[in-house]
Amino acid sequence: MAYEKEQKICDICGGKFREDEIVECIVENSIVNSCKKCVESENGIIITRPTKEQLEEAERPYTVHERLLKMAGLDNNTYKNSNKSI
Ligand SMILES: [Zn+2]
Repeated sequence: MAYEKEQKICDICGGKFREDEIVECIVENSIVNSCKKCVESENGIIITRPTKEQLEEAERPYTVHERLLKMAGLDNNTYKNSNKSI
């Protein structure tokens, strides 16, 4: 009986939350797992993770990946390079 889902801990307030209440976000240039309240109070940028349905709908996981890279503060140099080789 896997009734209880794994709980996650908010890196900011240290509270325990259900998995779906914790979001990955960028606060002060670092990626943290934070509860939704803390994201708001810290003005964090939420890293959106597409659900399976969204992936199927969009059929363009590439774009999401690109956004994640940007959000993570990586330059798109790697993207320019890969575009050239295509
Ligand atoms: Zn919190």
